[in-house]
Amino acid sequence: MPFPDFEKELLSAAQFDGSVPADRFSWSFSRERLFRRCRRAFFIGSFLSQGGWDPLVHPLIRSAYMEKHTLPFRLWLTRTVQSGIAAGLKKAVVLPPDSRRKAFSSGCLRFLSKNLFDLEFSLEHGEYLSDPKRPCVRECLDGQTARFPELRRQALDSFSAAYAALMKAPWFHDILRLDVMHFRFDDELISILFEQWPVWFSPGLVFFSGKQFNMILCSASETVCPSGEEPGTEDDLPDPAGVTAALFEMHIRSKWQREPPLARLFRFGPDGADVEEIRPAPGIRTLIRNGAGEMFSLIRPDGSARFGDFPKTTDPIRCAGCQYADTCRLLDQWADRHC
Ligand code: SF4
Repeated sequence: MPFPDFEKELLSAAQFDGSVPADRFSWSFSRERLFRRCRRAFFIGSFLSQGGWDPLVHPLIRSAYMEKHTLPFRLWLTRTVQSGIAAGLKKAVVLPPDSRRKAFSSGCLRFLSKNLFDLEFSLEHGEYLSDPKRPCVRECLDGQTARFPELRRQALDSFSAAYAALMKAPWFHDILRLDVMHFRFDDELISILFEQWPVWFSPGLVFFSGKQFNMILCSASETVCPSGEEPGTEDDLPDPAGVTAALFEMHIRSKWQREPPLARLFRFGPDGADVEEIRPAPGIRTLIRNGAGEMFSLIRPDGSARFGDFPKTTDPIRCAGCQYADTCRLLDQWADRHC
């Protein structure tokens, strides 16, 4: 029998007696959004999912872990194009200038096609079921792969539009001319310390040109797969790209004492692509201070995070498309039996 002490397993899953010390507690904008959307979703993603990499762990924890690692298609597309551009640039900018365009094309397009193939293979063979870090998109969870041909078409059209736009854009040709030493390819995920809180963010493509740091974020446009959208009813939160730009500005000022960076958003979709400047979100320090403080206040003095301290949202609109809907239902069943 896989779970000899069923009650004990559930109890530990639901109460988390392990400590969550302040120096291990961190803030990110995705955590902030989840926390504002629904306390229970935050509990599932931040605490219940811990340990879910072990396939023998309790199914409730495994379910939380799987849902945490399953991306909506639009986010998968965003990350794939962002990483594809970085992969192409890594190959290109070490070469002489006249070979770079071709090297970028082969590096970027090979990355995109490999990732699309990997996604299809993982979905078809259920790889994500045994290893939740293998690619999967929420629209095709639980073997519902009937939508995949439509998603594949959207991915290919989006890849083509993004690639064509980059190849035509003077700003991208300026980037292709930069020396490899101008890029910071290792800065995919940056941690800064704000007051006592570690803060995590992903600045996208980072490079230095002239006297200025630059960041370029990619974003799949809202025309991509609208039925797979996250619910968007968080209260008064700034635009995610503006938050990232503000965090990057904090990072550049504190670490490098440089002028504010130039932040741009490369938005792409099946119908085309364009680039625009991002204005850093105002009030970022207050957002972090208040958000991290409120999240951490729910950790008990003994360092435990308790299921009962993180209630469900009462707004059904927030449940539409919730990534933790299955785990939430399992928790309801558990609470009916045990609370
Ligand atoms: S389904 Fe609704 S109540 Fe449950 S975790 Fe998601 S948002 Fe919260």
